[in-house]
Amino acid sequence: MTKVKTQSLHKRESALANSKRQLEILSNGIFKNGDLPTFASKIGETNQFPLKAKKLEILQINVGYMCNQVCEHCHVDAGPDRKEIMTKATMQQCLDVIKNTGAHTLDLTGGAPEMNPNFRWFVEEASKAGIKDFIVRSNLTIIKANKKYYDLPEFFKKHNVHVVSSMPHWTRGKTDKQRGDGVFDASIEALKMLNTIGYGMPESSLRLDLVYNPSGAFLPGDQMAMEKDFKKALLEDFGIQFHNLFAITNLPISRFLDYLIASENYEDYMYQLVEAYNPSAVKNVMCTNTLSVSWDGYLYDCDFNQMLELPVNSKVKHISDYNEDLLEGRTIVISQHCYGCTAGAGSSCQGSVA
Ligand code: SF4
Ligand code: SF4
Repeated sequence: MTKVKTQSLHKRESALANSKRQLEILSNGIFKNGDLPTFASKIGETNQFPLKAKKLEILQINVGYMCNQVCEHCHVDAGPDRKEIMTKATMQQCLDVIKNTGAHTLDLTGGAPEMNPNFRWFVEEASKAGIKDFIVRSNLTIIKANKKYYDLPEFFKKHNVHVVSSMPHWTRGKTDKQRGDGVFDASIEALKMLNTIGYGMPESSLRLDLVYNPSGAFLPGDQMAMEKDFKKALLEDFGIQFHNLFAITNLPISRFLDYLIASENYEDYMYQLVEAYNPSAVKNVMCTNTLSVSWDGYLYDCDFNQMLELPVNSKVKHISDYNEDLLEGRTIVISQHCYGCTAGAGSSCQGSVA
């Protein structure tokens, strides 16, 4: 049983629960006084402003902000208190799009997407559309949270779902510090259940990838080197196998922004991001080939813009008006949080991009 360690910004009634307040912080101070260049001016140095969306490849759908965990750095500000859940009617609108999209990847996320009462129906219906790569972002502990979820590994297998799960470290201490007491042990149990039915095994087509994000105000190390370390440690200590590790940079929004400010690391972290800016990562940032759909059906350039309530710059605003041709070529909405996607080897929901 995992224990909830912290509370969502919403539950705490924090000023940062308001996305406008987050955007004010990101636009003022060191960026307003000229100590650091804005993201727009930085990408302008290499003639990459404005950023434009290319052909859609990944449709990411957030089916709700409810979660059984309250991780310290969650950019969704998810938790058990969040009640925003995608309705079956909005899911049906998404299905109409999924059946006709040119995207090769469907990516379901949350919160814990499995907590949406219509999650299984949605997966069953979406899997019939024949999308090449059907990802569910599962936090692992949900599988062990209640007996009604124990059969999730079999359910994922039945629908050939690609499971992508967060695992910030191969040690209990570092994992539980970021994600809550008991998360490590429950995650290990869930990974064993997934391995038992074939997920993550070397020759298996049942894909199991893990996501690493740093536990403090620093950038991730080299993705390939970390994958090697994770594989060695999880195999030696627990007999667990997985396919790839995605190293993701924490973006300075929501609970990570709250952490940065509370720990007096905000300015240092922004300096780190700007110093690590890699112009060659810009052309592959995920907003250029991804569209993010919120629980209430609105469209965003990425999951981060969704959380900052920065909608797409297009006549098409909602999944019910979806038009892939009109959305292609739109100007991406950016702010200083975007530096998180272009630091070092770059960062996306699929890990490094450069
Ligand atoms: S990071 Fe994932 S598992 Fe943790 S609270 Fe956020 S949505 Fe839930
Ligand atoms: S935060 Fe979103 S909009 Fe900004 S660069 Fe990253 S993916 Fe693109």
